[in-house]
Amino acid sequence: MKSTMMDVPLSLNHLLDRAGTIFGGNAIVSRLPDKSLVTHTYAQYHRRTRALASALHSLGLRAGDRVATLSWNHHAHLECYFGIPAAGGVMHTLNIRLAPDEIGWIAGDAQDRILIVDDVLLPLYEQFAHLHAFAHVVVFPFSGAAVPPEFLDYEQLLAGADPDGFTYAEHDENSPTSMCYTSGTTGRPKGVVYSHRSTVLHTLVGCMADCWDLRGSDVMLPVTPMFHANCWGLPYGAVMLGTKIVFPGPHLHPDDLLDLMQIEPPTLSVGVPTIWMGLIQAFERAQAQTPGRWKMPEGLRSMVGGAAVPEALIRAFARHGVTLGQGWGMTETSPLATVSYPRAELKDASEDEHFRRAAMAGCPVPLVDLRIRTEDGLDAPWDGKTQGEIQVRGPFITGSYHEVAVTDDKFTADGWLRTGDVATIDELAFVRITDRTKDLIKSGGEWISSVDLENALMAHPAIAEAAVIAIPDEKWSERPLACIVLKPGQHLAMIDVAGTLGAHLLQHGFAKWQVPDRFEVIDAVPRTSTGKFWKLKLRERFPR
Ligand code: ADP
Repeated sequence: MKSTMMDVPLSLNHLLDRAGTIFGGNAIVSRLPDKSLVTHTYAQYHRRTRALASALHSLGLRAGDRVATLSWNHHAHLECYFGIPAAGGVMHTLNIRLAPDEIGWIAGDAQDRILIVDDVLLPLYEQFAHLHAFAHVVVFPFSGAAVPPEFLDYEQLLAGADPDGFTYAEHDENSPTSMCYTSGTTGRPKGVVYSHRSTVLHTLVGCMADCWDLRGSDVMLPVTPMFHANCWGLPYGAVMLGTKIVFPGPHLHPDDLLDLMQIEPPTLSVGVPTIWMGLIQAFERAQAQTPGRWKMPEGLRSMVGGAAVPEALIRAFARHGVTLGQGWGMTETSPLATVSYPRAELKDASEDEHFRRAAMAGCPVPLVDLRIRTEDGLDAPWDGKTQGEIQVRGPFITGSYHEVAVTDDKFTADGWLRTGDVATIDELAFVRITDRTKDLIKSGGEWISSVDLENALMAHPAIAEAAVIAIPDEKWSERPLACIVLKPGQHLAMIDVAGTLGAHLLQHGFAKWQVPDRFEVIDAVPRTSTGKFWKLKLRERFPR
């Protein structure tokens, strides 16, 4: 017997048309560089996005061509989210926080053909322009200034295109729609490529009440950058449901977010713990200075992830009527893979138990299979105690990296993604992240490779060995601490160590925020029996 259901491919174009036709009157607000706000309706958004797709065709875009974006969170970036795949292209979001050399390398590796860049980010583009030649560079006049004549003007391209005459590029549901690079411990970053199918399924799962609980009646403030795992997928959900969006543009300072929240109060927001930490401090400071003037938006829910969410932070927001929900995932998992939510079994649980669980990564979401594998290769019992590596499988989890051979340190022989996160799982399937096997530090939601730092430090003539560990940091979640062993006869004056080595790392292409703020001179790096750096011992010695 055969199913009688139609075989209609899952497609982002369907979500786009739905937004334009059913929710045409709803608003998309963007904060511009001068802090003023501009509003588009979904009907305008629909036309502009189709015009972008049409303009990309006139520029000669072919199916599968990569179109890179170098952009803040705003409406034009959202146009790229749907307009590039509508034209058959693959949107490649470049991470503006990386060092310019790394961005250039990534653009080259992805073979990006076209770049769409905010005018305010042109100085960054110019620092890596020599590393990769784009066929076209399109500048979005975000600041309102005239676009320099050597570039194409985004607004002029849209004005000259015909959204009505445009037909969507043919595709099947597995055709690629977007790609995002993820930092590696060693070696270069690797590309994850999403499809229509994976994106639509992730969107449907994400919008469920037991996940983001995103509704058409919400006002969504996405603080997570749109170059980070597609802003965790929220923009797709908002377009699907016609949800009002308030984009913060480049203004991510806690005072600016607080100010924006007074003008356009959100009901749902997303961001890393660093953002929420800064926001609560700014709010409590402002409240103390001018009582009654500042408000936390009523009934605000916030999805936090990308790093561990401290229970104290969740409790602090709860005192102001704001619910922080937590999700865990990776660029490789689209990214939502687990979410902490009040399960039916917790109905009568104490308030303390609810907070304890809110500080956990939570339960696997539908369509994601999750297992915890111990070092002996066994499935950890659901006892909340036994630790092992999280492994996942599902239709929105990557099975490989763009043009990189599949290796057994990333994927198991039976087809599961090895996440490099260590966790326990309990009787309610709640995952608690306990450690990380990847040698990476996550500071303010952005990665720093400890191995890259160590290699660069060991290239310094005075240094024999260097081992870099993550130490907890209240503001940034984690910061790197470099333990260094000097060569015999070398005496870097202690006062000078941070200055000298900091300058050395900047010369080696690290971004300023990636440079450790602390260097400890030690006699020797502790080693395991197999001769590897024993970082556990260093973490015990320098717990903070
Ligand atoms: P994202 O863009 O979502 O931050 P990345 O691929 O850059 O995705 O980072 C994923 C990694 O971030 C995870 O493997 C894990 O180490 C860490 N992470 C994400 N969410 C959480 C969380 N809720 N708790 C602890 N660590 C987390």
